[in-house]
Amino acid sequence: MANPCALPTLASPPSEEDLASLKKLEKRILHRAGEAIRTYGLIADGDRILVGLSGGKDSWALLDVLCSLQKRAPVEFQVHGITVDPGFPKFDPDRIAEVCEQRGIPHHVLGAPIDALIRQRPDETPCIICSRLRRGVLYSYAKQHGFTKIALGHHLDDLLETLLLNLFFGGKLATMPVRLTSDDGANTVIRPLATCEEEDLRRFTWLKGYPIVPCGCPLCACSVSESRRKQAKALIEQLKESIPQIKASMLKAMSNVKSSHLLDLQLGALTACGVDESVERLG
Ligand code: SF4
Repeated sequence: MANPCALPTLASPPSEEDLASLKKLEKRILHRAGEAIRTYGLIADGDRILVGLSGGKDSWALLDVLCSLQKRAPVEFQVHGITVDPGFPKFDPDRIAEVCEQRGIPHHVLGAPIDALIRQRPDETPCIICSRLRRGVLYSYAKQHGFTKIALGHHLDDLLETLLLNLFFGGKLATMPVRLTSDDGANTVIRPLATCEEEDLRRFTWLKGYPIVPCGCPLCACSVSESRRKQAKALIEQLKESIPQIKASMLKAMSNVKSSHLLDLQLGALTACGVDESVERLG
């Protein structure tokens, strides 16, 4: 699912001068998304793609990008928007449906009793319940209605923050996969915006006039996972002041892994025997 806790967009409407920058920005985003789609084989001829549409900036940007690419791609594919309604009283899925209708994009709303379940199970971590249920309803709907891919709006900043969170709190070197097939092989999740910067997407959505629909979750500002994510984001932003190319370098690092220079025996580049020998040599 696209991050339902995405940051709010810019507040005031864009000026003429702001709008003049849209073409160049759109070109950059389409170029990056197109390159990710080609590099990682995210879309194939005949695909029916379900776009997770939370009403946040990233999900609108993804829907817009896929609709644009649909017109110019050498392959044919369908794009539908899907919104999971978590039942939070302040969430307004009708606003999302209205925009999709105006723009001629097929759209579906699925109810998931997330609000009710979080209240019923105070001992469980709410964000885990939330993501499990969202994933569950999306996967079932896609499977039942013959959708071949589920596209989510996670972007480069999400991937970099996840990399740090896994490193600092999870004890593993991993980020969000750009393409992932579910264990039963029935669903494939893709993240076509994986190399696009959040700031570009925020500005793009604002310039294009998409409404940002708040998810209405009372926990958004205070959940542990969100506050850790904010910490990781702040760290990257702080480092960017002295290392301007930090995001580009981290992106490059994720596709330039030297497995022999890590310590995981399952990577195959090292064997337990090989490690022992090198330790002996050092001794
Ligand atoms: S903060 Fe709320 S909307 Fe966000 S993942 Fe957690 S429960 Fe879901």
